[in-house]
Amino acid sequence: MAKIELKNLSKTYNKKIEALHDINFTIEDGQFFVLLGPSGAGKTTTLRCIAGLEKIDNGSILFNDESVTEDQPASRDVCFVFQQYSLYPHYSVYENLAFPLRSPMRKLPEDEIKTKVENIASMLKISNKLNNKATQLSGGEMQRVAIGRALVREPNLYLMDEPLSSLDAKLRESLRVELKNIQTNLNATILYVTHDQAEATTLADKIGVLKEGHLVQIGTPEEIYENPNSIYVSQRLGSPKINILPGTLIGMNDVPTFGIRPENITIGNGNHSAKIISIENLGSETVVALNFKDQEILVSIQGNYKSSINETINFDINNKKVLKFDQEGNRIYER
Ligand code: ADP
Ligand code: MG
Repeated sequence: MAKIELKNLSKTYNKKIEALHDINFTIEDGQFFVLLGPSGAGKTTTLRCIAGLEKIDNGSILFNDESVTEDQPASRDVCFVFQQYSLYPHYSVYENLAFPLRSPMRKLPEDEIKTKVENIASMLKISNKLNNKATQLSGGEMQRVAIGRALVREPNLYLMDEPLSSLDAKLRESLRVELKNIQTNLNATILYVTHDQAEATTLADKIGVLKEGHLVQIGTPEEIYENPNSIYVSQRLGSPKINILPGTLIGMNDVPTFGIRPENITIGNGNHSAKIISIENLGSETVVALNFKDQEILVSIQGNYKSSINETINFDINNKKVLKFDQEGNRIYER
């Protein structure tokens, strides 16, 4: 597959809505790159620009160090998987998967098509559905076929636009794991966009965080989680979400804001005392909400936690894990 580079890419709709502003990133050959951002951040626009479906205002797009900026969509040879499955309803699953291989340009022999289709079907666990009509499938199976239809070919790049978002939580989780395994086995180059933090951390080799058309940080999932450069980035990953609090709360009077993740607070003994507002037992962990000087603080505890609401307890913050932020919400780095 290919290495993909975006250089100084900008895109404005209707001469006024700046959807993307000076975007720069590189996807190495064989890398799983996830763009993470809320709705409206510019994720779909990025994919459409790379596919050649949108004209860009500025910048360049390179595949294997060669500009494709002026190339037609067809000649860029990318595969797009959309949010909603788009199958040919009157075709069988087999024919849907074989379709991209039957293009007149490719002219693959039928036995080669069969091998490829059967391989992909087996990876996606839909081998027993090959003779079904597309309409005789569940939503999860349809989306598997839609992903399979992209994976059956080996283009320069796979572009995936929230392909799991229409599925229920359980299916999403299992398909997520399978997609990651398949990508690893195929050594595929994938640009995957999502607003779902669990997808980003489990799938990505690299995450790029988008905020209102700006790419604000790029890093491995660990870097983005442990070392965010702003409050915004710190809030993209982690469940339960990071606590964002005023520095004065714990005597850091020169620090406007600090962040501390729920797993970096311990309850039992400690320097601070607070009241328990709620206890949520999630099985493997328990999320306890505290009221500390009228601020809500979430604490995550491994396993079960026996206590009751309104009880006063002591807690401690792991100072090594405190992230400091300035007035603008940008990280203050320790010297
Ligand atoms: P995301 O996929 O992250 O939700 P989009 O790329 O769809 O974000 O949109 C980014 C911004 O561009 C939004 O402000 C959106 O309203 C705007 N936008 C997207 N497509 C169009 C369009 N065809 N015409 C005008 N504005 C658009
Ligand atoms: Mg979108």
